[in-house]
Amino acid sequence: MRHPTPWLRAFVAAQATALPQEEFARMLEAIHRLHTSYCDALQSAPPGALRGLALHRMLDQALAIANGLHTSCRRGCCGCCHFEVEITPDEAALLAAKVREGVVIDQDRLRLQATRPRLSPEWGRFFAPENRCVFLGDDHACRIYEWRPAACRRLLVTTPPEACTTPGAAVAPVPVLIAEVLLSAALDLAGGTYASIARLLSKELDAFPTPGSSGS
Ligand code: SF4
Ligand code: SF4
Repeated sequence: MRHPTPWLRAFVAAQATALPQEEFARMLEAIHRLHTSYCDALQSAPPGALRGLALHRMLDQALAIANGLHTSCRRGCCGCCHFEVEITPDEAALLAAKVREGVVIDQDRLRLQATRPRLSPEWGRFFAPENRCVFLGDDHACRIYEWRPAACRRLLVTTPPEACTTPGAAVAPVPVLIAEVLLSAALDLAGGTYASIARLLSKELDAFPTPGSSGS
């Protein structure tokens, strides 16, 4: 595994000191096997939008384990839709397909966000209008919910929504180990390419321009 998610990297590092050596080796072997099977499953779909869809289907299955938890995430709760949401190139192809199918986005905002380097402090200004995801609707709900990126699907928290947008507040995400292994497999297949929606979507739209997508 060349590109584990930050959570998975931290989890393995913690288990390395917490578990007896043999138990830790068994755990690593199980993660490795799962990672390999996820890579194989993702590779059975062609690169691009279809692989992005396959990732989302598999991720929803992996996250089903968290279904019984009481989380704070609700329709219209959109603090996290103003952050630097990162996607894979396959997901960018999927989002670009939705734009070409007629989902109207604010191209000016997309281009502005795309100029930002990764982890730009600009993303730290909570609820700044220019930080709104281009897919966030006026009713504060996602306009492409069925096709939302993996980063949006996996972000489930048990702390109050206000904590997500309060500097220094503790946020308690719900980590799902198998989901993190799946995302690590997707990142490996992408060669570690993972960047904001704006950066990868604008690149994808530039590669295959579509006339008439502006406004919102
Ligand atoms: S992650 Fe935070 S801001 Fe986003 S939907 Fe959940 S509670 Fe709301
Ligand atoms: S794709 Fe949807 S859920 Fe994800 S950040 Fe944008 S508006 Fe929010």
